Amino acid sequence: MDCIFCMIKDGKIPSAKVYEDEEILAFKDVNPQAPVHILVIPKEHIRSVDCINSDNSKIVAKIFEVIPKIAKLCDLTNGYRVISNCGEDACQSVKHLHFHILGGTKMADKMA
Ligand code: 5GP
Ligand code: ZN
Repeated sequence: MDCIFCMIKDGKIPSAKVYEDEEILAFKDVNPQAPVHILVIPKEHIRSVDCINSDNSKIVAKIFEVIPKIAKLCDLTNGYRVISNCGEDACQSVKHLHFHILGGTKMADKMA
């Protein structure tokens, strides 16, 4: 499959990993938009938030259990932002579900 994040998961494209378990991978964004910018993905290919359903939602719950652990690993003691861009209007560029963790600075209070 022609999916960059599946290739990262399979080790075909290198990444700076910050967390990995059987079902989840987190790595540094190659083009960071904050001092700390991590991407958290399920290893299973899910296209976007719009494709989450009762068959695959357990992994999303697990991702949100792992996010606080990643935030601790990255010293995000003063807060962080979690974003998932979904579809064209949100400018989703990689069609593999991912959650951005952004932090390490005071961010703008407007999100869009
Ligand atoms: P999106 O725009 O889909 O919400 O976010 C995709 C993110 O993936 C972008 O922030 C982009 O910088 C990041 N990205 C794209 N290709 C790669 C890559 O090959 N390696 C890493 N580490 N990040 C990537
Ligand atoms: Zn994929």
